Order: sequence, then structure tokens, then C-alpha cells
Amino acid sequence: MEKRHVVILGAGPAGLGAAFQVTRLGRARVTVLEKNSVVGGNAGSFDLAGMRVDYGSHRLHPACDPAVLSDIREMLDGDLLDRPRHGRIRLRGRWIHFPLKPLDLAFKLPPSFALGVAADSVSKLTPRRPAGAELETFASVLERGLGRTICRDFYFPYARKLWGLEPETLSAVQARRRVSAGSLAKMVRKALRSVPGLKPPGSGRFFYPRDGYGQISEAYRHAAEQAGATFHLGARVDSLELDNRAGATVRYEQDGHRHSLAADFVWSTIPITALASLLNPSPPHEILHAARSIDYRAMILIYLVLEQEQFTEYDAHYFPESNIAITRLSEPKNYSESKEPRSRTVLCAELPCSPDGPEWNQSDEELSHLVCDALAVAGIPVRAPILQVTTRRLRQAYPIYREGYEADFNLLDEWLGKVEGLLTFGRQGLFAHDNTHHALYMAYAAADCINAEGRFEQTRWREYRRIFESHVVED
Ligand SMILES: Cc1cc2nc3c(=O)[nH]c(=O)nc-3n(C[C@H](O)[C@H](O)[C@H](O)COP(=O)(O)OP(=O)(O)OC[C@H]3O[C@@H](n4cnc5c(N)ncnc54)[C@H](O)[C@@H]3O)c2cc1C
Repeated sequence: MEKRHVVILGAGPAGLGAAFQVTRLGRARVTVLEKNSVVGGNAGSFDLAGMRVDYGSHRLHPACDPAVLSDIREMLDGDLLDRPRHGRIRLRGRWIHFPLKPLDLAFKLPPSFALGVAADSVSKLTPRRPAGAELETFASVLERGLGRTICRDFYFPYARKLWGLEPETLSAVQARRRVSAGSLAKMVRKALRSVPGLKPPGSGRFFYPRDGYGQISEAYRHAAEQAGATFHLGARVDSLELDNRAGATVRYEQDGHRHSLAADFVWSTIPITALASLLNPSPPHEILHAARSIDYRAMILIYLVLEQEQFTEYDAHYFPESNIAITRLSEPKNYSESKEPRSRTVLCAELPCSPDGPEWNQSDEELSHLVCDALAVAGIPVRAPILQVTTRRLRQAYPIYREGYEADFNLLDEWLGKVEGLLTFGRQGLFAHDNTHHALYMAYAAADCINAEGRFEQTRWREYRRIFESHVVED
């Protein structure tokens, strides 16, 4: 019997993981269409001034599913480094180690902040439940769990920068899915995990490929090709013609030419909002309206090449404070502990923004000034000569969970779920604030749903969807 054909849209971790797992299991024939000329999506890497850099701070978290982690280890063949996390957060003008450490908290926390947290924790001994009719939001869930001080000084200003919205207008889902330490007790437990003797395996550590985070995606591409998958890069999918009896026709543009592919299954990992607009015949008006009602936060990544060996010893700096425009600064060399090149290092600053906002069209020079000003305010000014500035723009960095977004997402998701042969998954495909290991887990799950006869088992996929609901993003 001829194998059925799965056409996968997008070659980020979700698309790559699916291409690898389906071909490895021999369940179907696979073709991957990716609009970029390289694989990896937001989890890719590129060369800059003789160094490999990522799209913002990326780490592989030890929470990764063991089967996925074992595949990554094998593919990277000794190149997956096990590294200690060594970052810091700026809080009321002071630096606190991140992940949190008890001694650091005891001695470095600003006294007014520590007193505020202590007072909040006492008042929480007599917990106040929200009034029945009161609507739960990101703000109410976190204030109840963590108290006012941590919210006011850390989570709320950080949230305003990350999503561009007031915490009261963000959905409670954002707090549950995004904040892994959602209560003071959990935060204390997390901090205690850094104490020798109480430390569970993997705590305070991360995995990182020797040649940049994108090495994971490149290895998946290689393994998928070895197993028989076909990749078309620089191939932007712009139309999906559906015929419930005869599968689908996927149309794409590559090198200025139009192409089409017949597919039994179309597995999309591109933004769910874009997927809706590609369908032919077009979905009903209310579905298109739902797709237009949800959106992703964009991000500009600003890279400064400095003429110095190392900027600081820290892998990442986190900036919740509102007077500093960027949210995070990473130094890629410190992730892989690379010493080369001796005379240069790169800083990568993350600036969440809107594509309609003023920053989106700013020049590299203007953006480099913005970063230097931010670092000067933070007390870590750039003193070495800046050899080069470059920027990258991510249109879909984070899904925005505006209060009430669930209704629009569910409508869209349910409608797409009924389209025969079509599956949407991955971070963009399920509008999920997920990590790479979650996207890869979804990919393996999708492959597992094709049975030995080549049919897709919807019931099993629904069970997996319930598991995906339990994913909580790791910072
Ligand atoms: C700043 C930042 C930091 C992060 N840090 C971490 C971290 O430390 N650890 C971690 O595990 N995760 C991290 N993540 C998340 C990680 O990047 C994602 O989980 C991962 O990239 C999701 O993979 P994906 O395949 O679902 O989506 P993507 O990587 O977004 O891939 C989607 C792909 O679809 C392609 N595409 C889109 N439209 C079309 C079209 N019309 N035709 C063809 N192709 C198309 C895109 O080009 C892209 O390659 C971070 C994300 C960001 C933004």
C-alpha cells in the first residue's frame, strides 16, 4: 500500500520534530515547507562576527520529555552541554541571582521589598477568596498567590513590557501557564532547590548545544532527511485548498515560482491566525473574525558586537523595571562557555513591541542607543567599542492572552479541528506560550496518532490535547 503523504507547514521545532518522528516510524511520506531559507523558526541560530547567536535567550529545559531528550542527546552526539544557570534580576536597583537562591535573597533583597513580601505572606495566612462574581485575571490570580509586593515590583511591570497590556486586562490563563512559581510557597520551594542536599536533579541547570540553540533544529532536519523526509526551504505557503474526499492541495511560492503539492494530511505549525486566512474555501465570517481578534506580541532582537572578551559572567539579565525598555539581555558566549573569539563578545537585547509601534521601524543605530541607554540606567554600561549592530524582528514572539481571548481561540480551534486531514500544533499553531520541548512533545504526539493503517486517530489526539493543557512555560 502506498504511504500517505503528510505536508508539514513550518520547520521550527514542531514541524521538524513531526517530520523526524513520522518518517522514523515509517507511518507516512513527509514533505516540509518552510518560508525561511534555514530551519529552526524562533529556536534557530545564525552566525554573527564569528559567533553563533540565537533569537534571544534560549535554553533546553530539563523538564523535556525523556524520549525527546534522549533523541536530542543522540542526534547531537556529545554536543549537548549540561550548564549551570547563572542569571540575575534587577529589582529596585539591586541584583538578585536568578534562579533564586536563599542566601542571595536573605542578603541582597532590598529591605523595603523583603518587608513588603513578609507582610504580604502574613496577610495571606488568612486567605481572601475573590468574590464569586469577580472576574479572575492575570492580576488577581498572581496577587492572590504572590502578594502585592512581588506583583507590583516584578510581575506587573514585566507583564506590561512583555505583552503591552495592563495586568488587569490579561487573562488568568496567562498567570497559570506562564508563571511557574504562582504562589509564595512554590517560590520558596523553587529557591530551596538550589540548596545542596535539597536539590532535585536538573534544578538550576539547563542543556545547551555546543554550537548554539539552533543546532537542535539542524540535527532534527538532518535526522528527518536521513529517514526520508523532503524539505523545501524558502517556500512560503499561501493557499490551502481543501477537499474532504481527496485530501488537500497546498500551494506555495519558492524562488518566484508557484508550486503545488497534493497532501493526505496537512500539519500546520505556522501561526493559527495565518492558517485561517490561507484556507480555500474561506472559513465562515465569524471564524475569520475570531482569527483577527487574537494576536501575537512582536519582538526586536538587538545584537551588539563588542570589542571585549566578556561583558559579564552572567548568561542573562532580566529587567522587570519600567524605566528600562528591554526585558532581557543575554550574552551567547556564556551559554556554551565558549572562549572564542577572544577579542569579541555579543550582547542580545530583547525588546517586546507591537508591529504598529514606533520601535518596529527604528534603525539599528537608534535601537543600539536604546540598548546602551537601558544598560547605563541598569548600572552595567557598555564601555567597550561597539564593532557592529544588527537586529532581527520576530513578528510572532508571544501569544497575547488578552482577557476573553479564550472564546475567539476556542471558536477557531474547534472549527479547524473539524477540517478533515488538517492538524494545527506547535507554539504558533496552538497559540500556546510554550517552550521548545513542548513543541517537540506535540510533534511526537501527532506522529503517534497515525496508526499502522496510516489513519489519523482523532480520539488519541484529543487525549494528547488535554496533556498539552498542563504545559507550563519555563523561563
Ligand atoms: C525570545 C524568546 C525566547 C525563548 N526562549 C526559550 C527557551 O529558553 N527555551 C525554550 O524551550 N523555548 C524558548 N522559546 C520558545 C521557542 O522559541 C519556541 O517554543 C519554538 O520556537 C516553537 O517552535 P514551533 O515550531 O512551534 O514554532 P516556530 O519556531 O515559530 O516555527 C514556525 C515556523 O513556521 C514558519 N512559517 C510561518 N509561516 C509560514 C508560511 N506561510 N509558509 C511556510 N512556513 C511558514 C516560520 O518561518 C517558522 O520557521 C523562546 C521564544 C522566544 C520568542
